[in-house]
Amino acid sequence: MDEHLKSMWEDINKMFFDGKLKELLAIDWGAISGEGTMEAFGRYFQKSKCMIIADRFQFDAARVGAGDEKEGAKAEVAYRLMIHEMIHQALHQRRAPSPGKHRDAFIAEATRIAQCRKEQAPINEAEAARWPEIIGLLAQFEI
Ligand SMILES: [Zn+2]
Repeated sequence: MDEHLKSMWEDINKMFFDGKLKELLAIDWGAISGEGTMEAFGRYFQKSKCMIIADRFQFDAARVGAGDEKEGAKAEVAYRLMIHEMIHQALHQRRAPSPGKHRDAFIAEATRIAQCRKEQAPINEAEAARWPEIIGLLAQFEI
């Protein structure tokens, strides 16, 4: 369990899920490959109750605190990936249809959270698979 990711998960659970998501057995950095969607960078595993965020976003918390912009951007990307994966967790937890996909149930949750964050909500499955937006940050900070 990575303590920084764990505390991020706890913050997001309180802020956007009313504290209702069940504790996971592990939340950690790991090697992930793939392309296209957020699952290339983060994964939620229902059976093993764990969440993995790609280790290329592992940030130095002391440098984030000191105002290092690139480290701060990595932390922000990890945060956004975790929001995405926690929607999958929420959908599994309440036995929504297709909890691992980015269909209506996912879009409804993403829309609710996007409104809280005053961000643009995804309007279809393709956008939802890439929500929240991270590509701009990856390019800007060469992460
Ligand atoms: Zn997804």
